[in-house]
Order: sequence, then structure tokens, then C-alpha cells
Amino acid sequence: MKLFEKTLNILQSGVMILDDELNIVFINLWLQKAFAYVDAQPGENLLSLCPELKGRRIEASLRQALDSGLPAVLSPVLNRSPLPLYHNGQSQAEPFAQMIRVQPMREEEQNYCMLEVQDVSSVIRRERLLNEQADKLNQMALTDELTGIANRRHFNSLLEKAVASTIDSSQSLSLIFFDIDYFKPYNDHLGHQAGDHCLARITQHLNDILKGEGYHLARYGGEEFCIILPGVSPAQATVLAENYRQNVERLAIRHPASSVAKVVTASFGVSGFNAGKSDTFTGLVLKADNALYRAKMSGRNQVIQACLDE
Ligand code: GH3
Ligand code: MG
Ligand code: MG
Repeated sequence: MKLFEKTLNILQSGVMILDDELNIVFINLWLQKAFAYVDAQPGENLLSLCPELKGRRIEASLRQALDSGLPAVLSPVLNRSPLPLYHNGQSQAEPFAQMIRVQPMREEEQNYCMLEVQDVSSVIRRERLLNEQADKLNQMALTDELTGIANRRHFNSLLEKAVASTIDSSQSLSLIFFDIDYFKPYNDHLGHQAGDHCLARITQHLNDILKGEGYHLARYGGEEFCIILPGVSPAQATVLAENYRQNVERLAIRHPASSVAKVVTASFGVSGFNAGKSDTFTGLVLKADNALYRAKMSGRNQVIQACLDE
């Protein structure tokens, strides 16, 4: 018997046996230490020691084990710390996260139950860390590193969702594509780093304007960007695109090699989702890209709207 007791006392988890009145019959050393502020000794009543357990799920589980012989598992998902157990008896800290198993036992016509308590705080900490890392990775997978805005992958999923909800709600949906004018000469004259800086500045500025309006700015590739405008008609989007074009111009980023202005400018193409013509995601993108191409061909630094019947 002594060997069993010794074994239970060197366990790195808690074991407690209670009788049918919730008096402690046995408690191992690990659990006794973890009950930092409660002198949990054999002979003491658990509910007198910890009155806060009255009416809680742990009391119900213990009674169920004693009265009906039903085992129970109290996972930390529902209640992080059912018992007032602390690391190294530190009162200032929160009780640690616990996994508790309640087992009914019967010995010499008497009902008992055994509580098995595990400290799962490190498991939970690790899980939280992994979740945070996964969130960060997901965020990175959807964000363009240079500009901090949505990347092409994120654009695809945003537009797919926007198209689906437009079909469901039969609301409007517009798409703006824009591309920096004469950007290769800009890089050639001022260097790639200045080019990077210019792209970041323009997108930051437009993102500040678009934020809060429910429109999404994304980098489609290179120096080509797009804006998804749910609930906006192509005519309204064309007015907005003209405003964004002027905003780019007004940033007054000096461009020593543009044939259209002394500052950095962009050309814009606008398309609208045409549900009646069984439009598609690809159709919407192609129309905006064609309109942008026409804006380039017509002299750049301007907005062109795709034909409505395209
Ligand atoms: P257009 O007015 O017809 O658009 O002429 P463009 O010179 O802007 O177009 P082109 O497609 O010939 O060149 C695009 C340039 O954009 C070439 C490429 O080096 C540059 N570019 C694409 N991505 C980046 C980037 O992330 N950073 C920098 N600095 N340059 C980029
Ligand atoms: Mg360009
Ligand atoms: Mg381009």
C-alpha cells in the first residue's frame, strides 16, 4: 500500500478521492501543493474548503459520479480552471488551465469518486502561439509585401465573393484597374528603389481614401492595381476613378521621364458586372483590363469606362 501512495505522491498530476459527501479521502502531494490557498487535507470537505464550487459544473459532475456512477470530463474549453489551483502557490497569478476527469468508484458498499487533474496551461499556451502564427502566415499569404495592400490571391477571393453576393442580391458591382504611366522610364531614371517608394506612396494614399468606404484596393501585379467596388454602378465608379486619378496626380511625385506630365500619373479602366448578360468574374476583369488598355492608347492619365453592352 505504501508503494502505491508513494507512487501517487510523485505523480506530476493531481489525484483526489472523495466520498459520497465530498469529503477528501485521499489527495496526492501535487494536488495539495496546487491548492495553494486551501489547506486540502484528508478529512476536509471539498465544498467547505472551496464554497465557490457550489452550483458549478464540477459539483454537478462529482454528484453525478457519486449518485449515478457516471464518469465526466471537464475540458478547459468550457471552463479554463474549475478548481482554484495555482503554480507554485502564487496567488497573484490566475489559476492554471486544467483538464479534469471524474471517475466513479465503489468500495465496500460505499460510493467514491476520483478526480484526476492535469495542468494543461503549457498545451494551451502552445496552441495559442500556433494559432497566432497561423493567423500571421495567412495574413502574409494575402498581403503584398511592398505596399501592404491585398495581393493578387486576396484580390481573386475578394472578387469571387463580391461576384457571388452581387448575383444573389442583384446589386451593382464595379471594378477599376489602374496602371502607373511610364513607370519603366521612372525606374530607369530614378532607380528601382525610388520606384518601390513611389508605388508604396500611391497605394498608401489611395488606401487611406478607400478605407472605410468598403472598397478593396489590391495589387494585381507589377505597377497595376485594382479596386473592387461592391454596390457601385459603373457610372458611379467612373466618377470615383476620376477622383482617384486626380489624387494620384495631386501627390505630385516628380517624374522626369513621363511624356504625359511632370508628375507620376496613372491610367484607369472601369467595368461593371452585368448580371443580365450572364457576366462572369473573368468577364469583369477582362472588360476592366481592356478599358485600361484603351486609356493607355488614348494618351494615358485618364479614365475609360468599358461599354455597358460588352
Ligand atoms: P505604360 O505607361 O504603358 O504603363 O508604361 P510603363 O513603362 O509603365 O509599362 P511597362 O509595362 O513597360 O513597365 C512596367 C514597369 O514597372 C517595369 C517594371 O520594372 C516596373 N515594376 C513592376 N513592378 C515593380 C516594383 O515592384 N518595383 C519597381 N520599382 N518597379 C516595378
Ligand atoms: Mg505602366
Ligand atoms: Mg503595367
